[in-house]
Amino acid sequence: MEKKGILIVVSGFSGSGKGTLMKELLKRYPETYALSISATTRQPREGEQDGREYFFKTKEEFEKMIAKGELIEYARYVQNYYGTPCDYVEKKLAEGRDVILEIEIQGALKVREAFPETVLLFVTPPTAAELKSRLVGRGTETPDVIESRMNRACEEAEGMDRYDYLIVNDDLDECVEEMHRIIQGEHCRSFRNAKFMKEIKEDLERLKGED
Ligand code: ADP
Ligand code: 5GP
Repeated sequence: MEKKGILIVVSGFSGSGKGTLMKELLKRYPETYALSISATTRQPREGEQDGREYFFKTKEEFEKMIAKGELIEYARYVQNYYGTPCDYVEKKLAEGRDVILEIEIQGALKVREAFPETVLLFVTPPTAAELKSRLVGRGTETPDVIESRMNRACEEAEGMDRYDYLIVNDDLDECVEEMHRIIQGEHCRSFRNAKFMKEIKEDLERLKGED
C-alpha cells in the first residue's frame, strides 16, 4: 500500500525536551521521519550549526523570506522571528516521509489552518519544577531569558488543549517510543486511506460479479 507522509507539529514549553526527543526519534527511525529545519533571527547557541539546527538569518533576510512567500508559517517568540520554509517540507512529504515541525503554538495553529490533516502533539515535562530545572540545567540561557521562557510557558499552557495528543516527557526512552506509536497509528485513520478504501470497494464489486 502506498504510504503518504503525514505532517506532524510538535510543540511544548521551551526546556520540555522536544529537541532531545526529536534527535532520538530520528536516530532510531531515520527512514521514517524528516525534521524540518526552521529559519530564525536568534543567535546560534554553542554547538549549533547554520543549516543543521536552524538557518540563522538577519531580520532583513527573514523579512525578505516572508515577503517572497517562502514560509509555511512564521511567528515571533521572545524577541525573535522563527519560521518554516516550504520547500523542504513539501519535498519530504512527497517522498513518503512523516515530516515533523518543531514549532511554537501560534505557528502550530497556523499550520493546522492551512493543512487540516496535520497531527498536533504537545510535549510537557512531568512537573513545572522539572521544567525550570531542565532550563537551568541546559545552561544555554541567562536568568533573564529563563524567566521570559517560564512566562511564555504560562501562556502556552493555555493552548495545550487545542492539540490532538499530550505527551509527558518523563522517561526519555519511553517517550520516544510513545511518540512513534502515536504517529504510526495515525496512518491507519480511515480519512488518510481514502484511495485504499476506494480500490478495495471496487475490487470487491468486481469479484462479486465474477460468481
Ligand atoms: P526543548 O527543545 O524543548 O527546549 P531540550 O531538548 O533542549 O528542550 O531539553 C532541555 C533540557 O532537558 C536538556 O538539558 C535535556 O538534556 C534535558 N532533558 C530532555 N529530556 C529529558 C528527560 N526525559 N529527562 C531529563 N532531562 C531531559
Ligand atoms: P529555541 O530558541 O529554543 O530554539 O526555540 C524557541 C521556540 O521557537 C520553540 O518553542 C520552538 O519550537 C519554536 N520554533 C522553532 N522553529 C520555529 C518555526 O519555524 N516556527 C515557529 N512558529 N516556531 C518555531
